Amino acid sequence: TGKGQIVSFGEMLIDFVPTVSGVSLAEAPGFLKAPGGAPANVAIAVARLGGKAAFVGKLGDDEFGHMLAGILKENGVSADGINFDKGARTALAFVTLRADGEREFMFYRNPSADMLLEPEELNLELIKSAKVFHYGSISLIVEPCRSAHIKAMEVAKEAGALLSYDPNLRLPLWPSPKEAREQILSIWDKAEVIKVSDVELEFLTGSDKIDDESALSLWHPNLKLLLVTLGEHGCRYYTKDFHGSVEAFHVNTVDTTGAGDAFIGALLSKIVDDQSIIEDEARLRAVLKFANACGAITTTKKGAIPALPTETEVLSLVNK
Ligand code: ADP
Repeated sequence: TGKGQIVSFGEMLIDFVPTVSGVSLAEAPGFLKAPGGAPANVAIAVARLGGKAAFVGKLGDDEFGHMLAGILKENGVSADGINFDKGARTALAFVTLRADGEREFMFYRNPSADMLLEPEELNLELIKSAKVFHYGSISLIVEPCRSAHIKAMEVAKEAGALLSYDPNLRLPLWPSPKEAREQILSIWDKAEVIKVSDVELEFLTGSDKIDDESALSLWHPNLKLLLVTLGEHGCRYYTKDFHGSVEAFHVNTVDTTGAGDAFIGALLSKIVDDQSIIEDEARLRAVLKFANACGAITTTKKGAIPALPTETEVLSLVNK
């Protein structure tokens, strides 16, 4: 892994997960804290693999905000792009997988600190130092963080960064599915690398088919690499010259949280210092195998951040 900086922009929050599984939020006897937020997970995934990563976003100037900043630093992620809001508090999410298989969410976001990041507060020097600028935030929803998001993308792009996007669709967070689709597609054609899950592909295309035709309907001229992750079925990749799929690893899955973040973190950690990988199918396939292994290992432990593997762990699965 080389040393080009990957800057990941968006929110970091705490998921509160019931201490027992299969209950509704109202029935939960207690909750465990699970730090997360996809963009923060990606930054930590990169750092754990030995890469150089920074996180840009806003936290509350409260106990949870300082705890989250501490977790980034402990994991070797630069916190120089973090702002603390004096008024609003750190975002919190209560999440459960009920016995009926439905996920139930409740959010503290009215508004939370992450939604209040102002364009003027951005650490532009840090953003300009990015070789890869990754974003995948729900902070497109409201101002002022929407403007901050767009400014950060533009500054990174102008400074020569590769732009990488993961829509991280969490529908309950959006005012409506229509608005979610519009806002995701409004920044779609800026990104050069895009990773979507099968669920996101269906949502964005409005079709229940997950095939080459539906994936390619999302293609745009600036795109260099489109990835569709398929959980235990691995991933598909599309470039302007070729496409194909790479199968997943068989592992003992206990919790899939963070698998997609581990996957994209692993991919970015490999292409940050050598973008020509994207044009060479054999090398790209090797990197996607590494990324699949990184995603697979992340599903073998509870939570996202505690489950993210080191490069040695990933390589031992790849070479098994
Ligand atoms: P997301 O978290 O964005 O929905 P996925 O669940 O598709 O993304 O996971 C990303 C990658 O992690 C997959 O492409 C796959 O390589 C790996 N992965 C996810 N779930 C499993 C699983 N159950 N078994 C093996 N690998 C998995």
